[in-house]
Amino acid sequence: MSQDDLNVKGKPLFGKDNNPSSILPQKLTLKSRIKFRCHPGVRCFTACCGGIKIILTPYDILQLTRRLNIPAHEFLQQYTLPTYLEKTDMPGVMIKLREDDNKCPFVTPQGCTVYTDRPTACRYYPVGMADFHEGGSRDEKGQELPSAEDKFFFIVKEDHCKGFEEDKEWTIEEWRKDQGVDVRDEMNKEWLRLVMRRKSFGLQATLSEQAKRMFFMASTDLSHFRRFIFESSFLNTYEIDAETIDRIRNDDVELMLFSFKYLASTLFGVQNMKIREEKIREKVKEIKKRQDESVLQSIREYEEMMAEREKQKSA
Ligand code: SF4
Ligand code: SF4
Repeated sequence: MSQDDLNVKGKPLFGKDNNPSSILPQKLTLKSRIKFRCHPGVRCFTACCGGIKIILTPYDILQLTRRLNIPAHEFLQQYTLPTYLEKTDMPGVMIKLREDDNKCPFVTPQGCTVYTDRPTACRYYPVGMADFHEGGSRDEKGQELPSAEDKFFFIVKEDHCKGFEEDKEWTIEEWRKDQGVDVRDEMNKEWLRLVMRRKSFGLQATLSEQAKRMFFMASTDLSHFRRFIFESSFLNTYEIDAETIDRIRNDDVELMLFSFKYLASTLFGVQNMKIREEKIREKVKEIKKRQDESVLQSIREYEEMMAEREKQKSA
């Protein structure tokens, strides 16, 4: 694998925004072994927490807002900047670095102040993952085909990082487990799939501004999304069972996972949510009424035109 292959086809997902020349051109599996350890005793401690772009996933935002005990809108305003995800037009956020030293707002000389709730990108480092999942392959019913998945791992080795000189050896699998990457991957999976779908459809396929705003709102502010579910006509439109309603009302993680499902349906037409029969009937009635009005309008215009011609003939 060349670095070009990696950069063009399998851009590292949620790694810190790495310099491509730091990526070792070697394709690794979960069983591959690496020698690495990061701890407060290393000379470079916290050197990697500055001058970087850290994209936040919905689960990252949820965990950080809980940790800081502030509402999402306050967190977004204070700690993030808007960005686009994976070179698409899908809006997202990244951590806003401090103006004075260009470092992460959560880093101190003693280390990361949100360590147990640090974002996915920080957990990945220095093991990146490339995912060739096409995200757009679907069957005739619009359901995604599972076959297009292909992942591998690679090492990001930056000169300033002395963790590679440490004596600890692990498999990639052990490292990911230790860093809590597995749990994050599970939580991020469906959201990431949305972004990859957008990427594979290409920008030729239009996505309305309203759809992008919905994606941003659901991905960054769950309180806002919850209000949308419970205070709009949403529950009158979709058939959602009582147990699901109860779960999404009371559990943020359930609500987040539900939002991914809703976004897949509304943005990409995945048939995973059922619209109520009466809503479909109302819609059909509305379309029919519009069609009838338009036919009547055409008849009126035709008659006016004929009357005008008659007038001209007899003049
Ligand atoms: S969140 Fe923590 S680990 Fe991640 S860059 Fe900031 S200080 Fe470093
Ligand atoms: S060892 Fe690497 S990952 Fe750990 S603090 Fe140093 S630069 Fe960061």
